[in-house]
Parts: sequence; structure tokens; C-alpha cells
Amino acid sequence: MMSVDELAALVRTIPDFPKPGIQFRDVTTLLADRRGFADLIGRMARIAAPLDPEYVIGIEARGFILGAALAHVLGAGFVPVRKAGKLPGRTVGMDYILEYGTDRLELHEGQVPAGARVILIDDLIATGGTALAAAQLLREQGASVLMALFAVDLPDLGGMAALEADGIATSAILA
Ligand code: 5GP
Repeated sequence: MMSVDELAALVRTIPDFPKPGIQFRDVTTLLADRRGFADLIGRMARIAAPLDPEYVIGIEARGFILGAALAHVLGAGFVPVRKAGKLPGRTVGMDYILEYGTDRLELHEGQVPAGARVILIDDLIATGGTALAAAQLLREQGASVLMALFAVDLPDLGGMAALEADGIATSAILA
């Protein structure tokens, strides 16, 4: 097993991406490291397994990578939440506010049954706007969101606190 510090060292910071002033945390370097990827998924699985989720819900796009690996380890189904217009079947959606303008997340209608026990996965939580919208969409479908789980939290941006204030349990492997 790796230490959290070793794991954190595999995430690199790219300055001024996608726009000037933003320090982007790039997890592709962690994913490319075979020990790091296994350790990260192992840590996420140890947190999620006791909750016994039926579905792991991954948020586009890096949430798909982690979510699919985690669902496989847990023996859960995987369901994608995508940006508007990407899913081929009938969808249900949730609009959410960004710094400039709005965006929309969608889910295939009926893919998460009412009463389903789900966990929500993304690579990183910043303000929490994306995860909160995904959680609201799942709740609207009648799902029970057991936890929102992230590889990286940026605590200064308050995302996990915002989710907790909305009654959603949260956890992150790296801060
Ligand atoms: P939030 O909605 O919490 O402000 O932003 C989180 C969403 O934006 C996540 O879907 C995450 O993948 C993406 N995101 C925002 N900033 C970063 C970053 O620095 N690194 C990565 N990997 N993703 C980011």
C-alpha cells in the first residue's frame, strides 16, 4: 500500500489550465501509475464497500474512469451522468449554475430505479456545484445517495461542506 503523500505526489498541477489563473489538478499521472491507480481504487473501495451500493454513478468524464473501476471491484452496476446531449436514450436532466452561465447534467431515464442505493463518484470536487446537481438529479429519480466520493478535494472551495449541508455524506482520498 502507498501512503497518502505518495499518492498525492502522483497528481500534478498544471498552471493556467483551462484558463489563466486556474491551477488544474491533473489526475492522469496518477491513473497512469499502476501502483497508484490500484491504491486509489482500493482506498475508495474500502470506504464504499460497507455501504453496499447497487450502483456507482460516475460524473463525466474522469468520474467514468474511477467509477467504472470501483463498480467492478464492488460488484455494483455503473451508470454515467453526462453533459447535455451525449446520452442516446431518453434522459432526465438537471441544470446548474456555473461561474459564467449554466450547464446541464443528464441521466438515462429509468436507469436508476426508485429506491436504489447509489454512490456518486468524481475525480475532484471544487465548489461542489457539479456533484450537487448530480445528487439532486439522482434524488429526483428516487435514489438514495449514500455518499459522494472523490479522489481529490479542494477544501478551500467548500464543495464537500456544501454537499454535507444538503445532507449528502462525503469523502475524499486526497486533499
Ligand atoms: P465543481 O463543480 O465542484 O466546482 O467542479 C468539479 C468538476 O470540475 C468535476 O467534474 C471535476 O472533474 C472538474 N474540475 C474542476 N477543477 C478541476 C481540476 O483542477 N482538476 C480536475 N481533474 N478536475 C477539475
